[in-house]
Amino acid sequence: MSFLDQLLTIIPAERFKQDEPLSAHTYTKLGGKADYFVAPHTYEEVQAVLELAHRENVPFMILGFGSNLIVRDGGLRGIVLNLNELNTIRRDGNRIIAQAGAAIIDVSRQALTEELSGLEFACGIPGTVGGAVYMNAGAYGGETKDVIASAVVLTPDGELLTLSKDELDLDYRTSRVSKEGLIVLEATFELDPLGYEAIKGVMDDLTHKRESKQPLEYPSCGSVFKRPPGYFAGKLIQDCGLQGKRIGGAEVSLKHAGFIVNINQATATEYISLIRHVQATVKQKFEIELEPEVKIIGEDIAVENA
Ligand SMILES: Cc1cc2nc3c(=O)[nH]c(=O)nc-3n(C[C@H](O)[C@H](O)[C@H](O)COP(=O)(O)OP(=O)(O)OC[C@H]3O[C@@H](n4cnc5c(N)ncnc54)[C@H](O)[C@@H]3O)c2cc1C
Repeated sequence: MSFLDQLLTIIPAERFKQDEPLSAHTYTKLGGKADYFVAPHTYEEVQAVLELAHRENVPFMILGFGSNLIVRDGGLRGIVLNLNELNTIRRDGNRIIAQAGAAIIDVSRQALTEELSGLEFACGIPGTVGGAVYMNAGAYGGETKDVIASAVVLTPDGELLTLSKDELDLDYRTSRVSKEGLIVLEATFELDPLGYEAIKGVMDDLTHKRESKQPLEYPSCGSVFKRPPGYFAGKLIQDCGLQGKRIGGAEVSLKHAGFIVNINQATATEYISLIRHVQATVKQKFEIELEPEVKIIGEDIAVENA
């Protein structure tokens, strides 16, 4: 049986696309096509697709909301597994258990409704639970690692494991999930009871801060760079006079120097060139290496030889 026929025995045709433009699934609105774009509805389907990919030696990657990803213009070979349909959120005592494809913003809102405190920091982070665990998402002094109790993951060999907070090894924008290529299926957050108004007050304050400082009106990947020890990436970029610098349709934001915005149908090549330009300029002026926080993946467009 062909690879495609085998895939269709696992995932029905309506939840499967070929040559799917990833610009439709990334916050930067950039990126070429995925060979196979698959949306499993159950953990068993995820496991079966993973097994098939291994057996047939087809590469695969997990896509959340694409809010921390730049896909190059040549797209991605193999399978893109989109877990967004796995998105239930439920309460168990002072814990909230959310599937990997749930929006972390929705988990934060659910915690508010349940009068459970701890996830206020996540109220404006536009990714999934899986993406938050992968990179230990955090904001305004809070991090995923402060509230996570455990996560159910699939190893690259297809083994289903429950990892404790310590075993997840979350650190600044990294985790065991990112280091070992694990797939997050669900996460449990340990929260503290607190009144609705107190939680809401903090969330409103953080939302106001985010909306006043970030260029949310344009497509972007959020902060492009990690915070270099002892510095703020945005301040270094600002001090290099790079705000407003453009390559094609990509621009270093005038509102927040740590953001690069897609202001006019940028290509991934333009966006990445601007990232490299910013890195080179900051390195030249301050001798500081800016490391991207955003993940850059996929292939460049092949240039035909004349
Ligand atoms: C406007 C804006 C503001 C932002 N603000 C913040 C902020 O305040 N704090 C912050 O930390 N981040 C911020 N981000 C970045 C981004 O939202 C976070 O990194 C988020 O956690 C990414 O989640 P995602 O689902 O979009 O992941 P994606 O971008 O889809 O994927 C990112 C990586 O996670 C992996 N991944 C996703 N799901 C899984 C899974 N289930 N299992 C294993 N791996 C998985 C992917 O393979 C990929 O390598 C911001 C982004 C934008 C656009």
